[in-house]
Amino acid sequence: MFNENISMQLTPAAVRNVRAGHPWVFDNAVTKQNKDGEAGCLAVMHDKNRKFVGLGLYDPHSPIRVRVLHRGKPRNLDMEWFKDRFEGAFSRRETLMGDRLTNGYRLVHGENDALPGIVLDRFGDTFTLKLDTAGWLPHLDAIIEIITETLTPERIVLRMSRNVAEHTDIPDGSVYGEPLDGPVLFLENGITFEADPVKGQKTGFFLDQRENRKYVEKLAQGKDVLNVFAYNGGFSLYAIRGGAKRAISLDISEPALEAAKRNFKLNPDIPAKNHETVCADAFDYLASDKQRYGMVVLDPPSFAQKKDDVEGAIKAYDRLIQLGAHSVKPGGILVCASCSSRVDEETFFETAFKAVKKTGRTFSEIDRTFHSKDHPIGFREGAYLKCLYLTIT
Ligand code: SAH
Repeated sequence: MFNENISMQLTPAAVRNVRAGHPWVFDNAVTKQNKDGEAGCLAVMHDKNRKFVGLGLYDPHSPIRVRVLHRGKPRNLDMEWFKDRFEGAFSRRETLMGDRLTNGYRLVHGENDALPGIVLDRFGDTFTLKLDTAGWLPHLDAIIEIITETLTPERIVLRMSRNVAEHTDIPDGSVYGEPLDGPVLFLENGITFEADPVKGQKTGFFLDQRENRKYVEKLAQGKDVLNVFAYNGGFSLYAIRGGAKRAISLDISEPALEAAKRNFKLNPDIPAKNHETVCADAFDYLASDKQRYGMVVLDPPSFAQKKDDVEGAIKAYDRLIQLGAHSVKPGGILVCASCSSRVDEETFFETAFKAVKKTGRTFSEIDRTFHSKDHPIGFREGAYLKCLYLTIT
């Protein structure tokens, strides 16, 4: 499947990293290269003694110059090899694929499924394929062929990160099947949701919170729940199905809250009369809101997009969790999630504990959760989601 090869030499540190299983080689780790190459070439990597290290996907436009596809002994990377990689990822989701109440989940989680730069999400019969490297653009037909031969999507919608979209004329949208002109419906644990694969945040829906939403459902009985950073209301629907007296979805985005209301309409068994929406900045609202709730869910966007943001992110978590803890009734529950991969779990949990202590309230930990099976962790940077459940007294 690769027509062109580039031969390159790596720094000893990068060689160690690749051999240890890390999937990225940065631009400054390439010490020699036999020629310039196009995105999508096969990079054949050697150490300084010309010993073979591995094979990877070349991307001259990204600081992650090579995404490692194979390490160990030299081999031919053909369609069979590529298909095996996809099938491996699909087989890790067998339980989900057999779940009749859920047909929205992640089928391929990039580096963590040994398919670096490729994310494939399923929303019923519509799949979203998200490419994070321009290196896959020349191989798009091969990717589509494998997906459609193995599974039976009605359509595949392509999404690209900005650094990929800049290098192609292909627009975001359907690359297989009928074009899509709005949201699609899918099931998650028996609840119908809409997802907008073309225009929605991420690939259309935050599939990674499925298990936390179910956990919130279990804890929600009889409570009034404030769902902060609600997006399209996921936690609110689960809370009310779990017996919450009331759920308030708070988000800064009006379109997200409109989608939350539509999601309630799609599920007549989950009473919409118990649901309210508030369009506001979470920090401002929590600081001025005098009400207290039986449960507060905090699921903010990533606060640290780059390394320099980490300190600011920790401060933001500290402030948010203090505000959240204040808003919990004595004996109520605070759920705080973090999806910033640059803030590791120890730092996040410690920040959360300190923040609650600063409010003068005491707490006990109910649980902490991490990634679900369809979002496996394959390398250090692949770990991003952590969530803490606290009783606040
Ligand atoms: N909890 C959601 C996912 C949250 S994603 C779910 O279960 O699917 C983060 C959300 O935070 C987005 O919807 C975004 O619009 C919202 N957001 C970002 N900054 C915000 C702010 N300052 N105040 C309130 N909402 C904000």
